[in-house]
Amino acid sequence: MRISGESNEPAERMVRLQVESRQVKDPRVLEAMRRVPRHLFIPSGGRAAAYEDRPVPIGHGQTISQPYIVAFMTELLELRGGERVLEIGTGSGYQTAILSELCSRVFSMERIAPLALRARQTLEELGCRNVWIRVGDGSVGWVEEAPFDRIIAAAAAPSIPPALRDQLADNGLLVIPVGEMKGAQELVVARRIGSTVTVRESIGCRFVPLLGKGAFTDRPGPVAGPQPGGPA
Ligand code: SAH
Repeated sequence: MRISGESNEPAERMVRLQVESRQVKDPRVLEAMRRVPRHLFIPSGGRAAAYEDRPVPIGHGQTISQPYIVAFMTELLELRGGERVLEIGTGSGYQTAILSELCSRVFSMERIAPLALRARQTLEELGCRNVWIRVGDGSVGWVEEAPFDRIIAAAAAPSIPPALRDQLADNGLLVIPVGEMKGAQELVVARRIGSTVTVRESIGCRFVPLLGKGAFTDRPGPVAGPQPGGPA
Protein backbone atom coordinates (compact mmCIF):
# COMPACT_ATOMS: atom_id res chain seq x y z
CA MET A 1 0.00 0.00 0.00
CA ARG A 2 1.34 3.38 -0.90
CA ILE A 3 -1.32 5.91 0.13
CA SER A 4 -1.09 6.52 3.87
CA GLY A 5 -4.05 4.99 5.64
CA GLU A 6 -5.65 7.72 7.71
CA SER A 7 -9.12 6.70 8.82
CA ASN A 8 -11.66 7.91 6.25
CA GLU A 9 -15.14 7.39 7.65
CA PRO A 10 -17.06 8.52 4.52
CA ALA A 11 -15.00 6.13 2.36
CA GLU A 12 -15.61 3.27 4.78
CA ARG A 13 -19.34 3.91 4.68
CA MET A 14 -19.25 4.21 0.88
CA VAL A 15 -17.57 0.81 0.60
CA ARG A 16 -19.99 -0.84 3.00
CA LEU A 17 -23.22 0.56 1.57
CA GLN A 18 -22.44 0.88 -2.15
CA VAL A 19 -19.76 -1.69 -2.93
CA GLU A 20 -19.87 -4.65 -0.52
CA SER A 21 -23.66 -4.64 -0.56
CA ARG A 22 -23.50 -5.15 -4.36
CA GLN A 23 -21.27 -8.19 -4.05
CA VAL A 24 -17.84 -6.82 -4.90
CA LYS A 25 -15.69 -9.14 -2.80
CA ASP A 26 -11.99 -8.78 -3.66
CA PRO A 27 -10.54 -7.73 -0.28
CA ARG A 28 -7.66 -5.80 -1.87
CA VAL A 29 -10.10 -3.74 -3.96
CA LEU A 30 -12.27 -2.99 -0.92
CA GLU A 31 -9.25 -1.99 1.14
CA ALA A 32 -7.91 0.34 -1.58
CA MET A 33 -11.31 2.03 -1.84
CA ARG A 34 -11.40 2.57 1.92
CA ARG A 35 -8.00 4.24 1.86
CA VAL A 36 -8.01 6.48 -1.23
CA PRO A 37 -9.45 9.94 -0.36
CA ARG A 38 -11.99 10.28 -3.19
CA HIS A 39 -12.88 13.88 -2.32
CA LEU A 40 -9.39 15.08 -3.27
CA PHE A 41 -10.05 14.07 -6.90
CA ILE A 42 -13.09 16.34 -7.24
CA PRO A 43 -12.82 20.11 -7.86
CA SER A 44 -13.39 21.92 -4.54
CA GLY A 45 -16.94 23.13 -5.40
CA GLY A 46 -18.28 19.57 -5.82
CA ARG A 47 -16.62 17.77 -2.94
CA ALA A 48 -19.75 17.48 -0.81
CA ALA A 49 -20.96 14.84 -3.30
CA ALA A 50 -17.66 12.93 -3.36
CA TYR A 51 -18.90 9.79 -1.57
CA GLU A 52 -22.40 9.69 -3.07
CA ASP A 53 -23.64 6.74 -5.10
CA ARG A 54 -23.27 8.41 -8.53
CA PRO A 55 -20.79 9.95 -10.96
CA VAL A 56 -19.81 13.55 -10.10
CA PRO A 57 -18.76 16.31 -12.57
CA ILE A 58 -15.02 17.07 -12.71
CA GLY A 59 -15.11 19.82 -15.37
CA HIS A 60 -14.63 19.78 -19.17
CA GLY A 61 -17.91 17.87 -19.54
CA GLN A 62 -16.47 14.76 -17.82
CA THR A 63 -17.30 12.89 -14.61
CA ILE A 64 -15.53 10.82 -11.97
CA SER A 65 -17.07 7.34 -12.22
CA GLN A 66 -19.56 6.08 -9.63
CA PRO A 67 -17.71 4.31 -6.77
CA TYR A 68 -19.43 0.97 -7.39
CA ILE A 69 -18.43 1.00 -11.07
CA VAL A 70 -14.80 1.73 -10.16
CA ALA A 71 -14.85 -1.19 -7.70
CA PHE A 72 -16.62 -3.56 -10.09
CA MET A 73 -14.28 -2.84 -13.01
CA THR A 74 -11.21 -3.10 -10.78
CA GLU A 75 -12.36 -6.47 -9.46
CA LEU A 76 -12.81 -7.69 -13.06
CA LEU A 77 -9.11 -6.95 -13.66
CA GLU A 78 -8.08 -9.68 -11.15
CA LEU A 79 -5.01 -7.72 -10.00
CA ARG A 80 -2.49 -9.59 -7.85
CA GLY A 81 0.19 -6.91 -7.47
CA GLY A 82 2.79 -7.45 -10.17
CA GLU A 83 0.91 -6.22 -13.23
CA ARG A 84 1.62 -3.39 -15.66
CA VAL A 85 -1.71 -1.69 -16.34
CA LEU A 86 -2.82 0.65 -19.11
CA GLU A 87 -5.73 2.93 -18.20
CA ILE A 88 -7.59 4.90 -20.86
CA GLY A 89 -9.38 8.03 -19.60
CA THR A 90 -7.52 9.28 -16.52
CA GLY A 91 -10.22 11.88 -15.81
CA SER A 92 -9.85 12.85 -12.16
CA GLY A 93 -7.17 10.22 -11.48
CA TYR A 94 -9.31 8.44 -8.85
CA GLN A 95 -9.40 5.09 -10.65
CA THR A 96 -5.68 5.58 -11.35
CA ALA A 97 -5.01 5.87 -7.60
CA ILE A 98 -6.99 2.69 -6.87
CA LEU A 99 -5.03 0.83 -9.56
CA SER A 100 -1.72 2.19 -8.27
CA GLU A 101 -2.43 0.55 -4.90
CA LEU A 102 -3.08 -2.83 -6.50
CA CYS A 103 -0.50 -3.35 -9.25
CA SER A 104 3.11 -2.61 -10.09
CA ARG A 105 2.84 0.23 -12.66
CA VAL A 106 0.00 2.27 -14.11
CA PHE A 107 0.25 3.96 -17.51
CA SER A 108 -2.73 6.28 -17.88
CA MET A 109 -3.85 8.29 -20.93
CA GLU A 110 -6.19 11.29 -21.03
CA ARG A 111 -7.08 13.37 -24.08
CA ILE A 112 -8.01 16.55 -22.14
CA ALA A 113 -4.72 18.13 -21.02
CA PRO A 114 -6.01 20.17 -18.02
CA LEU A 115 -7.63 17.02 -16.55
CA ALA A 116 -4.40 15.04 -17.02
CA LEU A 117 -2.37 17.78 -15.33
CA ARG A 118 -4.74 18.05 -12.37
CA ALA A 119 -4.82 14.27 -11.94
CA ARG A 120 -1.01 14.12 -12.07
CA GLN A 121 -0.77 16.78 -9.35
CA THR A 122 -3.30 15.06 -7.07
CA LEU A 123 -1.55 11.70 -7.45
CA GLU A 124 1.85 13.26 -6.76
CA GLU A 125 0.51 14.94 -3.63
CA LEU A 126 -0.78 11.57 -2.44
CA GLY A 127 2.60 9.98 -3.06
CA CYS A 128 1.61 7.63 -5.92
CA ARG A 129 5.02 7.02 -7.50
CA ASN A 130 4.16 4.13 -9.82
CA VAL A 131 1.91 6.14 -12.17
CA TRP A 132 2.76 7.66 -15.56
CA ILE A 133 0.20 9.95 -17.19
CA ARG A 134 0.29 10.92 -20.85
CA VAL A 135 -1.90 13.41 -22.72
CA GLY A 136 -3.12 11.78 -25.92
CA ASP A 137 -5.56 9.51 -27.70
CA GLY A 138 -5.80 6.30 -25.71
CA SER A 139 -7.89 4.55 -28.35
CA VAL A 140 -4.60 3.73 -30.08
CA GLY A 141 -2.97 2.62 -26.81
CA TRP A 142 0.57 3.40 -25.64
CA VAL A 143 2.72 1.47 -28.06
CA GLU A 144 6.12 2.31 -26.48
CA GLU A 145 5.10 0.69 -23.17
CA ALA A 146 3.15 -2.28 -24.59
CA PRO A 147 2.39 -5.06 -23.91
CA PHE A 148 0.19 -4.61 -20.82
CA ASP A 149 -1.03 -7.29 -18.43
CA ARG A 150 -4.25 -5.37 -17.95
CA ILE A 151 -6.07 -2.62 -19.88
CA ILE A 152 -9.04 -0.69 -18.52
CA ALA A 153 -11.03 2.02 -20.29
CA ALA A 154 -13.37 4.48 -18.56
CA ALA A 155 -14.97 5.65 -21.80
CA ALA A 156 -17.15 3.68 -24.21
CA ALA A 157 -16.09 2.51 -27.69
CA PRO A 158 -18.29 1.24 -30.55
CA SER A 159 -16.27 -2.01 -30.44
CA ILE A 160 -12.98 -3.14 -28.89
CA PRO A 161 -10.29 -0.87 -30.39
CA PRO A 162 -7.88 -3.14 -32.35
CA ALA A 163 -4.79 -1.38 -30.93
CA LEU A 164 -5.86 -2.19 -27.36
CA ARG A 165 -6.44 -5.83 -28.25
CA ASP A 166 -2.97 -5.92 -29.88
CA GLN A 167 -1.27 -4.36 -26.84
CA LEU A 168 -2.62 -6.97 -24.44
CA ALA A 169 0.02 -9.37 -23.07
CA ASP A 170 -0.41 -13.15 -22.99
CA ASN A 171 -2.88 -14.03 -20.19
CA GLY A 172 -3.90 -10.37 -20.23
CA LEU A 173 -7.32 -8.93 -19.45
CA LEU A 174 -9.04 -5.93 -21.03
CA VAL A 175 -12.14 -4.28 -19.51
CA ILE A 176 -13.96 -1.71 -21.63
CA PRO A 177 -17.51 -0.38 -22.07
CA VAL A 178 -18.77 -1.08 -25.59
CA GLY A 179 -21.93 0.19 -27.23
CA GLU A 180 -23.67 3.29 -28.51
CA MET A 181 -22.26 6.77 -28.04
CA LYS A 182 -25.16 7.91 -25.87
CA GLY A 183 -27.25 4.76 -25.55
CA ALA A 184 -27.03 1.13 -24.54
CA GLN A 185 -23.57 -0.01 -23.48
CA GLU A 186 -22.13 -3.11 -21.86
CA LEU A 187 -18.94 -3.75 -19.97
CA VAL A 188 -16.90 -6.18 -22.02
CA VAL A 189 -14.10 -8.37 -20.65
CA ALA A 190 -11.56 -9.69 -23.15
CA ARG A 191 -8.92 -12.25 -22.21
CA ARG A 192 -5.90 -13.10 -24.35
CA ILE A 193 -4.45 -16.60 -24.21
CA GLY A 194 -1.70 -16.99 -26.80
CA SER A 195 -3.05 -15.52 -30.00
CA THR A 196 -6.68 -16.17 -29.04
CA VAL A 197 -8.80 -13.42 -27.52
CA THR A 198 -12.10 -14.47 -25.94
CA VAL A 199 -14.73 -11.88 -25.15
CA ARG A 200 -17.59 -11.95 -22.66
CA GLU A 201 -20.21 -9.38 -21.76
CA SER A 202 -20.78 -8.23 -18.21
CA ILE A 203 -23.26 -5.66 -16.86
CA GLY A 204 -24.99 -2.82 -18.71
CA CYS A 205 -23.46 0.59 -18.10
CA ARG A 206 -23.35 4.24 -19.13
CA PHE A 207 -20.03 5.93 -19.94
CA VAL A 208 -18.90 9.03 -21.80
CA PRO A 209 -17.64 8.22 -25.32
CA LEU A 210 -14.07 7.24 -26.09
CA LEU A 211 -13.21 9.83 -28.72
CA GLY A 212 -10.32 9.02 -31.03
CA LYS A 213 -8.89 7.21 -34.02
CA GLY A 214 -9.75 3.73 -32.74
CA ALA A 215 -13.20 4.59 -31.35
CA PHE A 216 -15.86 7.27 -31.95
CA THR A 217 -14.65 9.99 -34.28
CA ASP A 218 -14.19 13.41 -32.75
CA ARG A 219 -16.01 15.30 -35.50
CA PRO A 220 -18.63 13.53 -37.60
CA GLY A 221 -17.58 13.24 -41.25
CA PRO A 222 -19.88 13.68 -44.28
CA VAL A 223 -22.95 11.45 -44.23
CA ALA A 224 -22.49 8.41 -46.48
CA GLY A 225 -25.14 7.28 -48.95
CA PRO A 226 -27.14 8.90 -51.73
CA GLN A 227 -27.77 12.64 -51.36
CA PRO A 228 -31.22 14.08 -52.11
CA GLY A 229 -31.36 15.54 -55.59
CA GLY A 230 -28.15 13.75 -56.67
CA PRO A 231 -27.77 11.52 -59.72
CA ALA A 232 -29.88 8.36 -59.54
N1 SAH B 1 -11.87 6.95 -14.28
C1 SAH B 1 -12.09 8.36 -14.46
C2 SAH B 1 -13.22 8.55 -15.44
C3 SAH B 1 -13.13 9.74 -16.25
S1 SAH B 1 -14.40 9.91 -17.47
C4 SAH B 1 -12.45 8.95 -13.11
O1 SAH B 1 -12.97 8.20 -12.29
O2 SAH B 1 -12.23 10.12 -12.90
C5 SAH B 1 -13.59 9.30 -18.92
C6 SAH B 1 -12.41 10.08 -19.40
O3 SAH B 1 -12.02 9.52 -20.66
C7 SAH B 1 -12.67 11.56 -19.66
O4 SAH B 1 -11.81 12.32 -18.88
C8 SAH B 1 -12.37 11.73 -21.16
O5 SAH B 1 -11.75 12.96 -21.47
C9 SAH B 1 -11.43 10.56 -21.41
N2 SAH B 1 -11.31 10.15 -22.81
C10 SAH B 1 -12.26 10.06 -23.76
N3 SAH B 1 -11.72 9.63 -24.93
C11 SAH B 1 -10.38 9.44 -24.70
C12 SAH B 1 -9.29 9.00 -25.50
N4 SAH B 1 -9.43 8.65 -26.79
N5 SAH B 1 -8.07 8.93 -24.92
C13 SAH B 1 -7.88 9.26 -23.61
N6 SAH B 1 -8.88 9.69 -22.81
C14 SAH B 1 -10.12 9.77 -23.34
